[in-house]
Amino acid sequence: MTRVVILGTGTPNADPERSGPAVAIVVGSAVYLVDAGPGIVRRASKAARDDTISALAPSHLDRVFITHLHSDHTVGLPDLIFSPWVSGRTAPLDVYGPPGTAKMVDLLEQAYSADIDIRLRGGEPSNKTGYAATAHDVKAGVVYRDSNVTVTAFDVPHGKWEHAFGYVFKTADRTIVVSGDTHPSDAIVRACNGCDVLVHEVYSAERLKERGADWEKYHTAYHTSTYELGDLATRARPKLLVLYHQLYWGDDDAELVRQVRTRFGGAVVSARDLGVY
Ligand SMILES: [Zn+2]
Ligand SMILES: [Zn+2]
Repeated sequence: MTRVVILGTGTPNADPERSGPAVAIVVGSAVYLVDAGPGIVRRASKAARDDTISALAPSHLDRVFITHLHSDHTVGLPDLIFSPWVSGRTAPLDVYGPPGTAKMVDLLEQAYSADIDIRLRGGEPSNKTGYAATAHDVKAGVVYRDSNVTVTAFDVPHGKWEHAFGYVFKTADRTIVVSGDTHPSDAIVRACNGCDVLVHEVYSAERLKERGADWEKYHTAYHTSTYELGDLATRARPKLLVLYHQLYWGDDDAELVRQVRTRFGGAVVSARDLGVY
């Protein structure tokens, strides 16, 4: 059975109730992470303890698919590379992402080289393999396949970013689409096309009106409003629409859902951290 565990629904704003953006697709004992927002390893550890999704124990976190290189989606990457190693992960972290991902991973290994050296050679009983990361800069198309899942990256429009992806996870029992950060896009409609779960970013259309012209220009170019998402979901026809990476600006989950529902008649839920779908 394939499960979607929302590890973090947050944004760059440091809301203590919302860890940085990260999603886990769990198939049996295998975990496929999307993005590495701040707090990712601790949220995964909590899911492993409280919800007994033991696959999410830190030492099992060994594969991540990055949507784009905005800091809120990647500042948890050093955490994901190094913390699970100290908790016993022996496999290097496998990292897939847009061009620039391999350079980021390489620079992180350089940045933490003193730590790596001390843990390997300073007397700590550490394993000698789990600190490494194997990075893959990928293009749109099938980027990964094993006996559980086929993972396909697709291009999404995210303002001035040259490369930003959404991902499709196709398993034996479900098709799951994670939007990444995106302006409303036909690419999402095509990728979902009646999918089981569409995990999509969103901001409050009503509250944006209070944000001022500069922010209005930015958000309409980079992100998707509740009303736009409702229209998009009507065309994409997900069996369940999961709102995440929500910008509320004072609204609450019920109000975001209400706004989406004015345009979409299907099932919709506004995710909280550690929600399982
Ligand atoms: Zn972004
Ligand atoms: Zn973002």
